Amino acid sequence: MTGWIVSLFLFYKIANPNLVLFLGRLNFFFSILLSSSVFVFVYFFPKIIWKFPSGIYWLAGAENIFLLLITLFTPLIDKAELIDGAARSTVYGNLYLWFVIHFLGYIFLSCYLLLRKIGHLNNVEKGQVKFVLFGILLGVAFGSSTNIIIPLIFNYYDAQNLGILSAIIFAAFAFLSISKHRFLNLQIVATHVVTFLIWSLLILDLFLPATKNLLFLDILVLFLMVSFGVILLRNVVHEVSQKQQLEELTKKLHDLDQQKNEFISMAAHELRAPMTAIKGYISMILEGDVGNIPPKAREYLVDVNSINDRMVRLVNNMLNVSRIEEGRMSFQFEKDELSRVIRTVYSQFLPEANRKGLDYKVQIPSDIKDKVYADVDKLHEVVGNLISNAIKYTEKGHVYVRLVQPSEGIIRFEVEDTGPGITKEEQEKLFQKFYRVESNVGKTTGTGLGLYISRLMIEKFNGKIGVDSDPGKGSVFWFELPVQQN
Ligand code: ADP
Repeated sequence: MTGWIVSLFLFYKIANPNLVLFLGRLNFFFSILLSSSVFVFVYFFPKIIWKFPSGIYWLAGAENIFLLLITLFTPLIDKAELIDGAARSTVYGNLYLWFVIHFLGYIFLSCYLLLRKIGHLNNVEKGQVKFVLFGILLGVAFGSSTNIIIPLIFNYYDAQNLGILSAIIFAAFAFLSISKHRFLNLQIVATHVVTFLIWSLLILDLFLPATKNLLFLDILVLFLMVSFGVILLRNVVHEVSQKQQLEELTKKLHDLDQQKNEFISMAAHELRAPMTAIKGYISMILEGDVGNIPPKAREYLVDVNSINDRMVRLVNNMLNVSRIEEGRMSFQFEKDELSRVIRTVYSQFLPEANRKGLDYKVQIPSDIKDKVYADVDKLHEVVGNLISNAIKYTEKGHVYVRLVQPSEGIIRFEVEDTGPGITKEEQEKLFQKFYRVESNVGKTTGTGLGLYISRLMIEKFNGKIGVDSDPGKGSVFWFELPVQQN
């Protein structure tokens, strides 16, 4: 296109008859190249949908080369250019029709191919192709009117002056596709354009008379610029393609993460219903709804109950994670006494603590101010997570559950155990998602979700959560909440 514009421009500017004829033929030459290369472009972009038998390629190649040669070196297409001041008129050669058929044929074939392709493309590609198609159509319609049809039919050659506009139309639409639909990468296009401009200027400079003395230096500069340019172009292309790959991978990862969350959420939901039913039946049996049961059976049932509770807690944590992360978690805030929550949860764990032979106690001062504003069900879950961990990770010794009042407006819940304890480095990571202490992994089962969920919830209630621990001696897990005035 650049060749076509430059030759057309010079064609009108130069008065030397020999040169004008050469420029006229050069302009035909570039028109031929332009039409075939538009087709090549459309053929490959954005993907090939048609494959021609290889004979066709050879035939088309031969036709192009032959037409290009006779255009440039014989009077068969452009016989002569008549000069009348600024105006030029072409005397067409005997095979001029061949040129017209070639040019229009390739352009129409390109448009047809693009139209056919649209059905095979995704939405983004469709947007890009539509712009390019429209640009080609408009540009070519305009260009062939001004440069072929109007001169041929009306014998009016001045219209050719406007031909250059068709290139601008095409360029504008290509630019729209690039910028709006990421048809080509702007960074790459800009680098190419700037590099080629520098090269062209340097090459042009070689032919200027003033350059003669410094020819060696000029060639050296050109050589360096070409080398640097090639390196630059390669790097930019490489970087851009890496960036695109990264973007695609990130998106894929995001989708996978989404699918995983949906799966966990669905599986957890399905698991919870039967567990609730089991809990109901066990409670009924334990409460004597089916008559007396032998003491041993009662003991086992109590164990089954606490195991079931553990599974419910685990499933709840899994459900909570996806809910919180997707912002679907709803909280029912109300004022309630924290001590009531503690007592209920404490007694749920009595059987388990007894089974492990732990010294398991609760200490709640009678005059404590413990009214908090929070979602009570969620508080149950948090306290359950902390007590359950203390019992799970403590083999012998004690687990003490207590409420203390560090200051007027604050109530603090603590679970003290004589378990393995946790090192300082691990304490910092403990409340992160999926984190499990290395030395415990393998010994106990767990998901590493309980503390993460508990932290998110306590933060939602404007509180703080933490742990103080000495490895080898035990840990105190705690949370603090603001106290409400009645
Ligand atoms: P889970 O218990 O399912 O692994 P949590 O989030 O509740 O997940 O706990 C995270 C990790 O913190 C546990 O894997 C365990 O290593 C450690 N941990 C929690 N509570 C205690 C405790 N009382 N004593 C020692 N380690 C604990």
